[in-house]
Amino acid sequence: MIDFELSPRIKATKNMIHMFAESAVRPLARQYDEQEHEKPWDLLNMVQKVMGGGIAGAFGTDKKEDKGEEEPKEKKPKETNLAGAVTVEEIFWGDAGIALSFPGPGLGGAAVQASGTPEQKEKFLARFAGDKPVWGAMAITEPEAGSDTANIKTTAVLDGDEWVLNGEKIFVTSGKSALEDSEGFVVVWATVDKSAGRAGIKPFIVEHGTPGMQITKIEDKMGIRCSDTVSISFMDCRIPKENILGSPEVVDKTKTEGFKKVMATFDATRPLVAAMAIGVGQAALDFLREYLTEEGVELRYGINPHRMTSLERDIMQMEADLKAARLLTWRALWMLDNGLRNDLQASMAKAKAGLAVTRITQKAVEIMGPLGYSRELLLEKWMRDSKINDIFEGTGQIQLLVTARRILGFSREQLK
Ligand SMILES: Cc1cc2nc3c(=O)[nH]c(=O)nc-3n(C[C@H](O)[C@H](O)[C@H](O)COP(=O)(O)OP(=O)(O)OC[C@H]3O[C@@H](n4cnc5c(N)ncnc54)[C@H](O)[C@@H]3O)c2cc1C
Repeated sequence: MIDFELSPRIKATKNMIHMFAESAVRPLARQYDEQEHEKPWDLLNMVQKVMGGGIAGAFGTDKKEDKGEEEPKEKKPKETNLAGAVTVEEIFWGDAGIALSFPGPGLGGAAVQASGTPEQKEKFLARFAGDKPVWGAMAITEPEAGSDTANIKTTAVLDGDEWVLNGEKIFVTSGKSALEDSEGFVVVWATVDKSAGRAGIKPFIVEHGTPGMQITKIEDKMGIRCSDTVSISFMDCRIPKENILGSPEVVDKTKTEGFKKVMATFDATRPLVAAMAIGVGQAALDFLREYLTEEGVELRYGINPHRMTSLERDIMQMEADLKAARLLTWRALWMLDNGLRNDLQASMAKAKAGLAVTRITQKAVEIMGPLGYSRELLLEKWMRDSKINDIFEGTGQIQLLVTARRILGFSREQLK
């Protein structure tokens, strides 16, 4: 049976998070856009206490499953990741920059969750459930390696009981939060064997305070200005041998199993980025509809398209785009929750949502005319905030490439 309805449990969570986003997040949106590099500490501390690990739970950490507790007798639907996406959408509806600055494991934690040993999970994930805010981050991008991850130049060399890291990472989300503002960590992608290409690239957990690791730049950004984005340099940075995620072996240079496993992290996180985008798009659409209602403009649903006004057509197109993105996102996460391969759907969801939100927010500014451009409203901010969804976690173009490869049955080498 096809069912597009959320379960009563998720609906209740959605309503609760929406109220929280409206009352506690949205009112701070403008302030922390203007005060870039500052954090709303009262809110973040409160989030940590109330949600236990920020929105970690929302980011797909099912504590019962993790602890191996018995399943309750009445079989619940598997919907941890789906519930996470709905929560993410609502908080990002409140404000994208502030939501991104919420404490929690982030991408680094997702990598530990996806490919860490039980000991690594215990050691590195437990800290997010404490009283103090803690952040995790992931450092893949380098000056010459972003979309093309195979080009990563940061090296990891085994020296006795330690890995020695050397290289430079750029655009690390929450890097400062993880390494300077809390007792967090960053998962760093480095090569153990340059000649092996992707097969040689491994993720390493680097703890805050590790000598040889230094934040070298804090980005000033167009949007999501409450979220910190940093460059990090590694100079003979020594970490324990056991801080590698997955096997250190480069068994067969033609096989990239380890790399694929880490890339699988993105099957969980790309739909969440799509949910972030949908939250911002929904904020813009909600605003527009409220404004038009106040102005006495009625949207005539169901009339013949050739009789619609151009405004009606625009709004209905925006709504359709957002709904399509949301359904793709839910599908990708439902598949993940049910143990199905979802890499195609994850990329489709992110590509669609990134494109939809940039178009929706831009159109909303256009429809509102000069008011849309003014800082009096949040529309211009949403337009700035939205673009990142088309860039991080793989650009929109890369998602289309991945989608095309999978649909057409081409390999990475056949379709670049
Ligand atoms: C605010 C922000 C936060 C970020 N956070 C993180 C983070 O936490 N961790 C991290 O590791 N990285 C992070 N990034 C980096 C981000 O993931 C990369 O910028 C992104 O993957 C693109 O890589 P690149 O910058 O090397 O661009 P490039 O790969 O050089 O791409 C430039 C342009 O070319 C296009 N392009 C590239 N290859 C192809 C192709 N084969 N076909 C068609 N078009 C192509 C791209 O789509 C893009 O439009 C962040 C970036 C920003 C702006």
